[in-house]
Amino acid sequence: MKLSKDYKFWFCTGSQDLYGDECLKNVAEHSRIIVDELNKSGVLPFEVVLKPTLITNELIRKTFNEANIDEGCAGVIVWCHTFSPAKSWILGLQEYRKPLLHLHTQFNEEIPYDTIDMDFMNENQSAHGDREWGHMVTRMGIERKVVVGHWTSQAVREKIASWMRTAIGIVESSHVRVMRVADNMRNVAVTEGDKVEAQLKFGWEVDAYPVNEIAEAVGAVSESDTNALVDEYYDKYEILLEGRDADEFKRHVAVQAQIEIGFERFLEEKNYQAIVTHFGDLGALKQLPGLAIQRLMEKGYGFGAEGDWKVAAMVRIMKLMSAGMKDAKGTSMLEDYTYNLVPGKEGILQAHMLEICPTIAEGPISIKCQPLSMGDREDPARLVFTSKEGPGIATSLIDLGDRFRLIINSVDCKKVEKPMPKLPVATAFWTPQPDFATGCEAWILAGGAHHTAFSYDVTAEQMGDWAAAMGIEAVYIDNNTNIRDFKKDLMLGNVVFGK
Ligand code: MN
Repeated sequence: MKLSKDYKFWFCTGSQDLYGDECLKNVAEHSRIIVDELNKSGVLPFEVVLKPTLITNELIRKTFNEANIDEGCAGVIVWCHTFSPAKSWILGLQEYRKPLLHLHTQFNEEIPYDTIDMDFMNENQSAHGDREWGHMVTRMGIERKVVVGHWTSQAVREKIASWMRTAIGIVESSHVRVMRVADNMRNVAVTEGDKVEAQLKFGWEVDAYPVNEIAEAVGAVSESDTNALVDEYYDKYEILLEGRDADEFKRHVAVQAQIEIGFERFLEEKNYQAIVTHFGDLGALKQLPGLAIQRLMEKGYGFGAEGDWKVAAMVRIMKLMSAGMKDAKGTSMLEDYTYNLVPGKEGILQAHMLEICPTIAEGPISIKCQPLSMGDREDPARLVFTSKEGPGIATSLIDLGDRFRLIINSVDCKKVEKPMPKLPVATAFWTPQPDFATGCEAWILAGGAHHTAFSYDVTAEQMGDWAAAMGIEAVYIDNNTNIRDFKKDLMLGNVVFGK
């Protein structure tokens, strides 16, 4: 998927006029070189734009306010080349509302032992200039990322690149609009939540529409448009009739093609980027949207099943954060379904009734048509596949009544030992870190849901930083987790975030 905006990041160098024009000329020139080289490196997913060196209160305030207003600006990177008295930054920082990165670097990598003098020292003093600046940002309680090291280092560039993607998740969050064409599944707790609070915290708009309004949009899709998409499906995917009549099978597939086109048009027209459905509330739809939803997720839409709007929004956010990533492995809604408890082979089989995003697939993708064990509609067509190996993260955003908590579990995705020929759904399989028993115990203690927003491409650090920017609690379950300390994390969360 592609982002709708061509985002850029501003590079602002802090300094002062105490050391004369010659020094300021060097500061500007060094900043220009750093920005040029960062852009040329090919590591950063977005362009960095150099701004004039910030010295006075007035210019600092003006620059931050321009960054607020510029829709293409996704964040500001600050570095203090010399000392920059931090009181000059107060008004600008108070009024700034976008992601902030503090790049704690210096122009020279090595101390120039043979030539170093006091002029050099005064000009290259981010070691204390950045401390002065960092002190103010901490005192003001402003959330920011700090990246430390020389600007030519690959590790530093990768950290900036990673933060840029977090920043996209932060600035795009307030543009996420979730369409609910079904309410929460009756009696289910964990998919519920406070939509007003979600808008206050995350900026999400979560709106309901009668399911038959979208069903009408589906009904309005012409037969020729539908058939063209069916042809595309038949070109792209393997068709597994499994004894069904070929014409009857194709008619079932066509229902999903019509849903895909109708849903997409309806979402586009009304400006929604995520959707929830519910197998028990389908109105005039002939099938539970399966293949159709899978394809929409692949295009970048967020999705949550059984009315789960929190997961729909999180899938959308994580797709935005990984948009355009080279060698991306995929992002999807998933559901913890069933366990393998054989010692040494423990893991969780991930699936859903139908709706898993094909971006996470490895190997061939097939279309199957099978009865749904729940609901009262015709057998829905769906894409079936298995998923990639490797590390990923499963996230669950829960509403605890007094606050939201984001649970971030690092997981190791594996192949299942044997094929599962009778299972007519897409699957993934993982072992939660640090091990199956500790991972599951921590997840349950934290109150994590069975639906997750999963990604191979977004990191736990990025999601934790995103949560911090949203002002909500985040807990990590990974190879550093032990239950005794994890319980303390939860207790600390109650103190800091509980009301
Ligand atoms: Mn479900």
